[in-house]
Amino acid sequence: MQRLKEHLIDGYYAATWPWRARFRQVRARVGLAPVMVLFYHRVADQNLNDWTITNDGFRRHLDWLEANLEVVTLAEAQRRIALRCNPRACVAITFDDGYGENCDKAIGELIQRNMPATYFVTLGNVLSGQPFPHDAKLGIETRPNTIDQLREMAASGVIEIGGHSRTHPDVGAIRDADMLHDEVIAATQELASLIDQPIRYFAFPFGQHANLNDAAINMLRANGILGFCSAYGGYNFPGDDPYHIQRIHGDPELSRLRNWMTIDPRKLNGVKRYQPRYVKQTVAVGGDA
Ligand SMILES: [Zn+2]
Repeated sequence: MQRLKEHLIDGYYAATWPWRARFRQVRARVGLAPVMVLFYHRVADQNLNDWTITNDGFRRHLDWLEANLEVVTLAEAQRRIALRCNPRACVAITFDDGYGENCDKAIGELIQRNMPATYFVTLGNVLSGQPFPHDAKLGIETRPNTIDQLREMAASGVIEIGGHSRTHPDVGAIRDADMLHDEVIAATQELASLIDQPIRYFAFPFGQHANLNDAAINMLRANGILGFCSAYGGYNFPGDDPYHIQRIHGDPELSRLRNWMTIDPRKLNGVKRYQPRYVKQTVAVGGDA
């Protein structure tokens, strides 16, 4: 079944290749090349599931990304969206949750290659050492990162730590302002003080349209966070809202990654961008006073 799916994707990729090549060529020529952001969760060789990629698989992804795209920091990706100019298709790499196994090989691999990544962490699990709720529910045994690992990553200068709430809730369903503040702002500030570095970005747990929350987004803006990430797929282009960075799943299958990263026409037109309702405030996007 898996093989059949890969064949179908490869067939679709080949059939749409002329369109893809032309799209990217025209976009690059006018400085409107796509700004893509990938999200991974767990890189490990045991307990494989939909949100785990093997170490070999991850290395193959990095090889492909290095050879085919410009790999940039999340801040640089955001800058290109905001400046309305990107002459070359680029990608930023992110991780969600904070799985301990990522530090066995994957993070070292990124640092060795000097490939930047943003690492979004659920604070409560790092503090308790307990598996993430979505794993616990399925009886999967995983271990979160330790604070020392996060500090080491942050000190590398290649990995930037970001906020991913305290308990990994559906933030979209939270109506209570105090609870919202605790999950989104207080947890992020505590994480920043634990790693002794400022935190600039926040990724919403689950990251689908329904899991986003305008009140939380406005709180993030008011508290100096430079931008937030969703996770429902979707490309960013120069001129889009730079505060909201859309991300694409780093699917373990290389054929799917290649399909996404060379612009899938179905995804280009079929994904609706979430448009937050921003409240007017004195803090500008970018955190300048
Ligand atoms: Zn998550």
